[in-house]
Amino acid sequence: MSGMDRMVIMIVVLLTSVFPVELFPNGPPPSKGVDGQYSGRQGQVLLVKVPLPEEAAEVKGTFLDRTIPFFREMRTGEPAGYLGLVGIDMQDAPGTYELVVTVKSGEQAKRLSYHVLITKEKFAVEHLKLPKDKVDLDDKTLARWKTEQDQVRQALADNSALRLWQSGFIEPVNGKRTGIFGSVRIMNGQPRNPHNGEDIGAPLGTDVAATNDGVVRLTVDHVFSGRGVFVDHGLGFYSMYFHLSDVLVKDGDLVKAGQIIGKVGATGRATGPHLHWGVKLNGARVNPYALLDLPFKHRPSPESSASPEVLPVNQ
Ligand SMILES: [Zn+2]
Repeated sequence: MSGMDRMVIMIVVLLTSVFPVELFPNGPPPSKGVDGQYSGRQGQVLLVKVPLPEEAAEVKGTFLDRTIPFFREMRTGEPAGYLGLVGIDMQDAPGTYELVVTVKSGEQAKRLSYHVLITKEKFAVEHLKLPKDKVDLDDKTLARWKTEQDQVRQALADNSALRLWQSGFIEPVNGKRTGIFGSVRIMNGQPRNPHNGEDIGAPLGTDVAATNDGVVRLTVDHVFSGRGVFVDHGLGFYSMYFHLSDVLVKDGDLVKAGQIIGKVGATGRATGPHLHWGVKLNGARVNPYALLDLPFKHRPSPESSASPEVLPVNQ
């Protein structure tokens, strides 16, 4: 072996020890840099892990004025620690921000700091033509809309302090995903709020399943969202299902992942039957499909072997 060959082998060995190869059988690699830095696009969800062999009294993160409660690692075969789901709002400005995690154990508090790089997502621009009265609201409709917004805000201010969801998220409808999360909306030529969820086209009456376990915090019949369900999954995490033709649950009901909570409809401001699926994570409006990319395995259950839409998405 020549000196040159030896040199090449040395470099390869050095490189692999500096950049260890990790395998993620349950999904794409987490967007974690070599020295504890994270990065993600607008609307994405980051899974942040704080390795910690012992149990802590409280592990809490702060990111862009949002409080992120951490929970114990529950995946089998993973080192002990705490996990946090950090949502990047679709309108968070690109840049590098600090995520501060405080670990409290007894009298002691430890402060950890991570850097999170937010990158720009390329959102679509949607031109919608709707009946004039659905875009330019009269005073009565506007007042109704404001009351409804308050009702939602109040209901969502109160959330479960326990993690209610289990490993593995489910796509609520097996339909045609439109990819318009975060799209800039121009309605009848006027710019409006960006689209804060994903629309899934499916025939009228198609079953809509809860993405994960939780408690029904609110069921509504609202001017824009139509018949809708808000599911509280705990720790500041909500999923929303709008424009339903039927709602099959009521406020306070406990729901399981994959449980049918309603039917696809076109109620509220909708141009045709579809499900509007939205997710709020500690106040951040994130792409619901980002949940499916998280490295959580689905539990084996009789339902998951029977219906294709609840099969693990990352396989
Ligand atoms: Zn929508």
